[in-house]
Amino acid sequence: MQQEAKTLKPGVVTGEDYLTLVKTCKEQGYALPAINVTSTNTVNAALEGAMNSKSDIIIQLSNGGAQFFAGKGIKDSHAAKVIGAVSAARHVHTVAKEYGICVVLHTDHANKGLIPWVEGMIEASEAEYEATGKPLFSSHMLDLSEEPIEENLADCERILTRLAKIDMSLEIELGVTGGEEDGVGSDVDLVDNNRLYTQPSEVLQAFDQLSSIGHFSVAAAFGNVHGVYKPGNVQLRPEILQQSQAHVRNIHDTDEKPLDFVFHGGSGSSPEEISEAVSYGVFKMNVDTDTQFAFSKAMAPYMEEHPKAFRYQIDPEEGTPFKKFYDPRAWLRACETSMAERVQQACTELGSAGKSIAASD
Ligand SMILES: [Zn+2]
Repeated sequence: MQQEAKTLKPGVVTGEDYLTLVKTCKEQGYALPAINVTSTNTVNAALEGAMNSKSDIIIQLSNGGAQFFAGKGIKDSHAAKVIGAVSAARHVHTVAKEYGICVVLHTDHANKGLIPWVEGMIEASEAEYEATGKPLFSSHMLDLSEEPIEENLADCERILTRLAKIDMSLEIELGVTGGEEDGVGSDVDLVDNNRLYTQPSEVLQAFDQLSSIGHFSVAAAFGNVHGVYKPGNVQLRPEILQQSQAHVRNIHDTDEKPLDFVFHGGSGSSPEEISEAVSYGVFKMNVDTDTQFAFSKAMAPYMEEHPKAFRYQIDPEEGTPFKKFYDPRAWLRACETSMAERVQQACTELGSAGKSIAASD
């Protein structure tokens, strides 16, 4: 009898379901786009793009994105970062199943100073777990790559121990991804700096220390850089991922690809670079810069088409009302549609298009 392909209920996936999704990505050789969001508009655009591509998706928030979601007017920025993340998660939980796909809820870089932010979100997930048996998020991220590796892994171990109890995963960072993401990042010289390349021995150290505690994924540095810069600054060396898989496999006699890798700084990468990284066990690629641009670029043609609607409520010469053009739904919809198209492009490049494992009924 033929084995039925594993399917999951549409909506947010956590715990075992999240692991099933990660495993399916790696077995079938594709990765999921992890789209940074800052508002219901960007959440909905990401979900719409994934739905159009019949792809599952990862929705994630940076600390600044979470704060923006709650509202920049809130004075206590720490509180806003926690509340905004919770608010975004609740929005995604409420709407995701209507899109008919599986949705992973994640957060982005948290350095040492942002550990209290992560702990605030964990508290919210612990309360949710107690009430419903499920956490709010599928996974958080700690980026302690600026700390010595022993310190990095000690904090990861402490946080993962807490996450594992509520069926959550942790993404860690080893080696430094160049550039900056929302105030978290490093100014390391982009040229000729070996900190931009994770060492397979560090990956083994993380595997040894964390794999018995719970599920974790690794953002490994292989010359990738946040943001889009002119080409030629650094050399992408995805073979570092392959070497890390081999190193852990040889020591521990594991499956072919024991590690679940994350590709940061994916914006601006060529399709060849993306597919090579995916073939070495990348299941998640972060996309932020390119989807930000896609959202915003739709404004220019809209405003060129309706310039007066952004200055007058009624046409000063002809007296016609401009309401239907300045209604924020009109121009925000143009932005959403443009971002959704960019998400569809990411699904195609990552090979996730048409591969959603959400059950169709
Ligand atoms: Zn990143």
